[in-house]
Amino acid sequence: MLTPVRRGSLRADILVAPQAPRPVTRGAVGAAGSHEEGTAMSERCAHLSAASTRDPAPSTRGGCAGCAAVGEQVWAHLRLCTECGYVGCCDSSPRRHASAHHRETGHPVVRSFEPGESWMWCYEDEQLGR
Ligand SMILES: [Zn+2]
Ligand SMILES: [Zn+2]
Ligand SMILES: [Zn+2]
Repeated sequence: MLTPVRRGSLRADILVAPQAPRPVTRGAVGAAGSHEEGTAMSERCAHLSAASTRDPAPSTRGGCAGCAAVGEQVWAHLRLCTECGYVGCCDSSPRRHASAHHRETGHPVVRSFEPGESWMWCYEDEQLGR
């Protein structure tokens, strides 16, 4: 037997309070759907949520702190650690100081330090955030 889809029925199932004076439809009790729409739109991890509220001062202005320490002058892009402000080079760079910093410190989230970019990346969950 086909059950016709009634517009608004899902909402009614949620909104109907126990005390609501409503005629009981045979077979309808306990048939409320289990799918919850609208809850899966932005599931960013706790690290990204926490990091979005932080704005640490960058450890350097001109470039990768790790590269500066070893005299390296080549890197692709820069990342800013949202925990401590460490500026490190990305994984496309020869030295990959941003990843190294995460491994050494456990600081989970970096933010792009490139002009005009503001995305974040969580190493723990390999998740992109904004
Ligand atoms: Zn995370
Ligand atoms: Zn570097
Ligand atoms: Zn850090």
